[in-house]
Parts: sequence; structure tokens; C-alpha cells
Amino acid sequence: MTRGWTTYATVLAPPHDPLRPSWLCAQDGQAWPCDVARAQLAAEHGDALAAVLAEQLVLAAREMPNARPADLHKRFVAWT
Ligand SMILES: [Zn+2]
Repeated sequence: MTRGWTTYATVLAPPHDPLRPSWLCAQDGQAWPCDVARAQLAAEHGDALAAVLAEQLVLAAREMPNARPADLHKRFVAWT
């Protein structure tokens, strides 16, 4: 039973995707991309990582018009 529940809970847990337009992680509520999301994105996109995050940055800037561009750049692109 315990094992089954664990599997079930894992399936139900939301992925580390951004909730929009707040751009907070759906799993842990941190500013997206959180540490886990960064690790997953890096593993998934490899050399294309910066380009993928630049696209997300454009979307986020549109949906968070009050955010400072420098902060968004740091959050989305600078770590890639
Ligand atoms: Zn997260």
C-alpha cells in the first residue's frame, strides 16, 4: 500500500513548471526557474538552453510588465 501511494503521489505532484502569469514554480512556489527547474532545463536542452530561456524571458517580460529587465535577465538567462 505504501509503495502504491508513493507512486500515486509522485504522479500527482506538479512538475517544476511556471505558473503564469506569476512565473512562480508550480511545485515549490519559488521564482521560476527554481533550482530544480534549472537542473531539469539544463539536462533537457543542453546547448540550446540559453535560447530556450531567452524565449521564456520574452514571454515573462510581457506578462510581468513591472519587473525590471535586469532582474529578469539575471533570473532567466544569466545562469545558463
Ligand atoms: Zn520548482
